[in-house]
Amino acid sequence: MSEPAVEEKTLKGISASPGICIGKAYLVDKGGVDVVKKYYLKGKKIKSEINRFKAAVKKAKDEIHTIIENSPEELQQAHILETHLALLNDKLLYGKTIEIIEKEGVNAEWALKRVVSNLNSIFQNMIDSYLKERALDVAHVSDSIMRNLVGVEPEDIAAIDKRVILVSDDLSPAQTCQINLERIMGFITNRGGKTSHTGIMAQALEIPAVVGLVNATTAIKNEDLIIVDGNTGKVIVNPSEPSLVEYEERKSQYEDYKVGITRESHLKAETTDGVKLEVMANIELPEEVVAVKNYGGDGIGLYRTEFQYMNRAEFPSEQELFDKYRDVVEVMAPKSVTIRTLDINGDKAVANHTSYDEINPALGLRAIRYCLKKPDVFKTQLRAILRAAAFGRVRILFPMISAYFEICKVKKLLDQAADSLEKEGLPYNREIDIGIMIEVPSAVVVADSLAEKVDFFSIGTNDLIQYALAIDRGNRHVADLYQPLDPAIIRMVKQVADVSKDKGIGVFMCGEMAATPHHIPLLLGMGMDELSMNPQSIPQIKRVIRSLNVKDSQSFVREALKKKTARGVFELSRDAFGGTLSEVTFS
Ligand code: PEP
Ligand code: MG
Repeated sequence: MSEPAVEEKTLKGISASPGICIGKAYLVDKGGVDVVKKYYLKGKKIKSEINRFKAAVKKAKDEIHTIIENSPEELQQAHILETHLALLNDKLLYGKTIEIIEKEGVNAEWALKRVVSNLNSIFQNMIDSYLKERALDVAHVSDSIMRNLVGVEPEDIAAIDKRVILVSDDLSPAQTCQINLERIMGFITNRGGKTSHTGIMAQALEIPAVVGLVNATTAIKNEDLIIVDGNTGKVIVNPSEPSLVEYEERKSQYEDYKVGITRESHLKAETTDGVKLEVMANIELPEEVVAVKNYGGDGIGLYRTEFQYMNRAEFPSEQELFDKYRDVVEVMAPKSVTIRTLDINGDKAVANHTSYDEINPALGLRAIRYCLKKPDVFKTQLRAILRAAAFGRVRILFPMISAYFEICKVKKLLDQAADSLEKEGLPYNREIDIGIMIEVPSAVVVADSLAEKVDFFSIGTNDLIQYALAIDRGNRHVADLYQPLDPAIIRMVKQVADVSKDKGIGVFMCGEMAATPHHIPLLLGMGMDELSMNPQSIPQIKRVIRSLNVKDSQSFVREALKKKTARGVFELSRDAFGGTLSEVTFS
């Protein structure tokens, strides 16, 4: 009897790294660390249980050290593993587990499981999707301890000896680090989002990845033929002959396209009528400067500094911050580096400082509000930034300014930080451009008065859309309403651009809106001076800019502003620029 025909099916996830690969699935086993039994211990047994736990942590650390030592040079992101080492020492994870074993007399696996589930709920309640995904780091670290406790070896990714696509519930950065590019074509996972570390690493390795598929490990069997389309976030399981032919074709087209845009990424982003734009990069980690350079970034338009405040018991010292900033500034010199001050609900960033819960954290003590309440923490960072500014071109950017008095207070503190450095005779530079993020609707309304206090505005559409349209940026139930082309948003962006021109200050955009090709005519026509985005998108956006002219873009803006819906704006853009954009981008 012949085998029943296998049906093609399509899974939809989140594209984490672009590209297309076609190959056999390889399911990565989690090794049964999810099922944990509880049992009680007494007397001396408690002490030896604690020692067993300590030994498992020590082994996890040794494993990470070995992986770091053996990581390929080009995988700069190996430093992510250093944060895992720090997590292994964290009081909240390490100390708390020991405390539970001791106080409740339970086994180490059970205590660890409880601690991790508490930590998860702390991270899950965070407003920032980037921070939310740090819950995954906790999961990866605890999985490795758990494996050592229950005595199962982790799947050895480095030992895979066939050309395959990895299919996993989740891949830890440690596992991703072991990917051998000659064997692993790409990977897909059930968990993870756009900003998960695994995605960041896939981008660094330049292999296609789709994450957040929810049920990939149940829908796909070992050896199934799959197509991973990292450009659209689609995975096709058991593709039919026509799908295979179609995707082989798309794959080779995409590869040609990438070679083309990368070759020209160092060219200027100049429109056909001679207007030059700076196309800058958004980074979260100092090590990303390598990608910024490779992708032809004209500088760093947004350096998110939150990362250094996470996964640790204490705030970083001025020296530590200074060293990190200086590295970035020196590597990028003479190009600009825009350092954004801490944008976080600090009490949650440094979890053991937690003193209260916020019912509505997105509207709470976040970013600049937190810094103004904690001037010492803020001044430490300001001093580090001013000191780093002595080593290259630095601009400082303040997040979530919603009122004039805030920028006045901020500037006073900046002056105080500079004065203290002067007194101490430390090298610093106070002649740096000062900017604010425009990401709260009230800042749009009073942009004219804010402009008097700063050198530039940087429009943060990620939050501006969330606050203006009242849509939680991390809530998938309202994700379809999150529309950058909504008439309310484009009018706001226009208003900010007009005020900036009027007041003679720079106007930049560093929200994700700037990384989408079909938004570019609008942004060009409104007169943005600079766009900043994830490094990967830079070559494509530079090419788009080179294909457009400002005059046409300006008349497009006039028409677009008459539209009443996001759809209407999109259709207008497609009719006017669809042909040009499809010639220069990959769609
Ligand atoms: C934004 O809000 O658009 C932005 C760039 O900042 P973040 O995504 O870090 O909030
Ligand atoms: Mg923001």
